Amino acid sequence: LAQRIDRSLITRSVTIELINTGSELLLGRVLNTHQQWICRQLADRGHVVQRQVTVPDTAIDISQAVREALSRAEGVITTGGLGPTSDDLTRLEIARLLGRPLREDAAVLDQIQSFFTRRNRSMPASTALQAMVPEGAIVLPNTCGTAPGLLLELDPNTFQSDNRPAWLVMLPGPPRELQPLFTTQFLPWLLARYPETQRPAACTLRSVGIGESQVEQLIASPLTPLVNTGLEIGYCARPGEVDVRLIARGPGADRVVARAEAIVRDLIGDHIYGQDDDELDTVVMRLLRNRRHTLAVAESCTGGLLAHRLTNIPGASTVFAGGFVTYGNQAKQDCLGVQPETLAAHGAVSEATAREMARGARDRLRTDYSLAITGIAGPDGGSPDKPVGTAFVAIAGPDQVLVLRLFNPLERLSFKQVVCQQALQLLRRTLLVNSPSAPSSLQFCQDLNR
Ligand code: ATP
Repeated sequence: LAQRIDRSLITRSVTIELINTGSELLLGRVLNTHQQWICRQLADRGHVVQRQVTVPDTAIDISQAVREALSRAEGVITTGGLGPTSDDLTRLEIARLLGRPLREDAAVLDQIQSFFTRRNRSMPASTALQAMVPEGAIVLPNTCGTAPGLLLELDPNTFQSDNRPAWLVMLPGPPRELQPLFTTQFLPWLLARYPETQRPAACTLRSVGIGESQVEQLIASPLTPLVNTGLEIGYCARPGEVDVRLIARGPGADRVVARAEAIVRDLIGDHIYGQDDDELDTVVMRLLRNRRHTLAVAESCTGGLLAHRLTNIPGASTVFAGGFVTYGNQAKQDCLGVQPETLAAHGAVSEATAREMARGARDRLRTDYSLAITGIAGPDGGSPDKPVGTAFVAIAGPDQVLVLRLFNPLERLSFKQVVCQQALQLLRRTLLVNSPSAPSSLQFCQDLNR
């Protein structure tokens, strides 16, 4: 699925640049998750990273990247290279570039020592390097590791022709250290420095079961009057989902975004399952929990992905009874009671088999609802009447079993992800059928098939 770049958001607020250090990132050994995670954290708070670069762990590359970023940006974030090994050069190179001598910070050394004491380990001598702090730096304590974050204010910033002040923050490489440090130490500092009044109002509405162009077709014209007053709209399509991001700046921005949100909800509300950080699985589990319903799943082509997603949610056990991964025909018979005649007459990927899988899971785990998934992920196994990408998703509830035939001609992993989204959406819409604004079950089957 195409990922459309949300160009409307790349507008100037604070100019922030991100430098990820690490040769392993350039060798393709490690995926640069910091880039996405940090950019998202900042964008959600109205600060869009203007430029990002990944550099190897070499002194010259780090130094050059920082010098260049400081010649343009008001804020520079670096990640990685704060460890104790010979390739961890970020702290040293930045201190050298800025002419800030490194001094041992007794409090940081203490924290590092107690980090090892708590784990009953002796502190390696090389780790003491992480207590070296550039002159004037604010130390951001790292509760999950040993290298603290280091924040420097540059006033004047001699890398800019007008000496405009700037700041630079160095963050550690391991994600389990960087993320809590960023959220609890750095973000509060950033948000205090740039008060809310300077931040844009923003809202991301998350939709499922409707294509990106169709969303745009439905909402673009009705939103035009607000766009003319400064509303920015961004679309972001991911497997099975489309986000609509609404953003406005300046006086009255909150009202503009609220008005736009109301219009979008009015037009595609049936497809909107949540906003901002909501995920479909979490929303569905919340619905089940609020209604005191339980769920079982029977999966074939998704291989347990649906159960995996549901069990990622804390407190899942109050709702999720269990699941069956029945990949082969025998497993479908033994674990779920699918009839051999059904498999022989219709095949493993069929409406009849999906129906029996859903019934079997619900009966055997005695739940209120069950979801069943069977499909052809490919690349082989398709036929003219059931090409690769065909899937059947069934839901069994207290009253009936409903089966959808879907077609998702995607590569294997995307296929699995999209079918799980469709199954969750089917469950969500089923649960909402009793609400007055919910569409009929026939209508939502058609929506899902689009
Ligand atoms: P350490 O004390 O572990 O050496 P560090 O601050 O020096 O920490 P790095 O050595 O650069 O950080 O990276 C440590 C580990 O963190 C890497 O092996 C890698 O697994 C992970 N990591 C680093 N940068 C990134 C990134 N941009 N995205 C995802 N993971 C990363």
